[in-house]
Amino acid sequence: MTPVTIRGLVKKFGSTVAVNGIDLNVDAGDLFFLLGPSGCGKTTLLRMLAGFIDPTAGSIHFGDRNVTHDPPNHRDTGMVFQGYALWPHMSVFQNVEFGLTVGRRKSQHTAQQRKEKVDRALAATHITQYADRKPNQLSGGQQQRVALARALVIEPTLILLDEPLSNLDAKLRLDMRSQIRAICKEAGITAVYVTHDQKEALSMADAVAVLNTGRVMQVGAPRQLYERPANRFVADFLGETNFVSAEVKSRRGGAVLLETPAGALESSAFPEDLPDTGNVTCSIRPEAFTLQALNGDPPGGAPNRFAARPVDCTYLGEMAQYQLAVGDHLKLKAFELNPRLVDQDADELIVSIDPRDVVILHD
Ligand code: ATP
Repeated sequence: MTPVTIRGLVKKFGSTVAVNGIDLNVDAGDLFFLLGPSGCGKTTLLRMLAGFIDPTAGSIHFGDRNVTHDPPNHRDTGMVFQGYALWPHMSVFQNVEFGLTVGRRKSQHTAQQRKEKVDRALAATHITQYADRKPNQLSGGQQQRVALARALVIEPTLILLDEPLSNLDAKLRLDMRSQIRAICKEAGITAVYVTHDQKEALSMADAVAVLNTGRVMQVGAPRQLYERPANRFVADFLGETNFVSAEVKSRRGGAVLLETPAGALESSAFPEDLPDTGNVTCSIRPEAFTLQALNGDPPGGAPNRFAARPVDCTYLGEMAQYQLAVGDHLKLKAFELNPRLVDQDADELIVSIDPRDVVILHD
């Protein structure tokens, strides 16, 4: 298992800066995700790791080895592409064996050694029974596992996956998420995985780097990024959220008191270097609100509880999505899981929220 260290990495294509000064550490054995919208530079970064693109500046180390300008065939990386790029005329066995018969690996192994390695890769990806079939006799998910076996068979230092599930239908994509993670973990290999699908990253990754316009916006474990986004971009890209402007009133120990258009809100999720006063933006996820019908008097004064008018409601089965109006100027999106309130047709709701879910952003 090999760690990867990226320092000050830049790639310019003419006047386009595709990757703009990236520092990252990928721990040995991690399934590390590069996540971001189209054009953010994730494929360029992955191709620099593979050696297909030469960086304009910066360095890449695999363990202690500086591989920045090494050609692809000297890096020991296995690559899994979006379209599986399997040879249609070869059997599954031959497709997987192919990597052992070209380049530096040619004539390194006897036929018997090659067979043992291919058998191991087929077993690891659970496709032993399809060894004699041609790719067009396999389902999309099975073809994807052949592509993975072909990358694993060379026992690479690092495996690189470029949107490997994007050609599969939605249900198969879900199945393959856990299978790919399990295969990488069983192989004990460091993997870098590119996707623009935040659910894929949240469900599979050990760590995620969120990229935008060639820069890293935040790096962290999935929960850390979802629950404690550092900035608007990450909060918005990783699911739905409400941005609420607020003024810092006081800070006591682990709690910050804010004045917001929804009244007083207490937050226990804030940056260490938050100033004692000033204007900030909070991110509050729609599922963080607890909604109740208003029976009796509206709440007054207590922080993190306020009245809101439902102005729109969409029933989606497992949940209902509400558009709430708070006072004259604030609109909030709120989800009710296992919805019950929809029947009550309430004019006003009581909304409450845990201080841990009022996340004050860095910027
Ligand atoms: P997608 O999800 O759409 O594949 P991406 O995040 O992988 O996007 P990249 O393919 O890395 O983005 O591209 C980053 C930027 O660099 C884009 O603005 C793209 O147009 C530009 N770019 C990429 N390759 C080249 C190239 N060979 N020549 C010129 N510009 C390029």
